[in-house]
Amino acid sequence: MRKYVIMGVQGSGKGTQSALLAADLDLVHISVGDIFRWHVKNHTKLGAQVRRLVAAGELVGDDLVEDVVSDRLQLHDWNYGFIIDGFPRNRRQAEFFLESYDLDGVIHLDLPDDEVRRRVLARRLCSRCGMDYNLIAHRPSTEGRCDVCGGELVTRADDTPEALARRLRDYHTKIDPVVELFRRKEYVMTIDARAGKTTVQQAIRTRLGLPPYAPPHPAESA
Ligand SMILES: [Zn+2]
Repeated sequence: MRKYVIMGVQGSGKGTQSALLAADLDLVHISVGDIFRWHVKNHTKLGAQVRRLVAAGELVGDDLVEDVVSDRLQLHDWNYGFIIDGFPRNRRQAEFFLESYDLDGVIHLDLPDDEVRRRVLARRLCSRCGMDYNLIAHRPSTEGRCDVCGGELVTRADDTPEALARRLRDYHTKIDPVVELFRRKEYVMTIDARAGKTTVQQAIRTRLGLPPYAPPHPAESA
């Protein structure tokens, strides 16, 4: 049984790295963002609550996140363990988490703010089918057009430099103290997230003492 927390700012590749690790080790990948998106998409009561908060320009509160994570962990479907992404969000939750679950490690993907800005501001979205693009890592074959449906590529409404600066500030204010708390308990493995996804995955596995990563499609590794 392996129990990991993964932390990192938006654009650090948290989702990608969690998915690679989870697939290989049969871990349940618990992504708080994905859970909320699922509720919004499926029009649940929780989804409606999240939609109201977002429409009012507010963030989903820490208590609500905590409830969702507790419910998810109580399903106990994680026979081989879990990797959790998007939690804990404050020191109290981190302390509670350390007491309740025997964590094996905290993977901290470290990405400088200027690189976050470079990556996030390069994101594009197809206005027709919703496919994600990135002008650095995943360019469309025709500029400004979706490869799948030919729709126009647009920037997400919240991917402006101002909104991103605000999110970065919020992240550091809230999450840096959580990383620090874990670091004092010697759980944290800081990984340089500037490299390509295969290199980062390899670095994570080395730090966790796992066998080397074998990418399924070597041609896609960068
Ligand atoms: Zn499209």
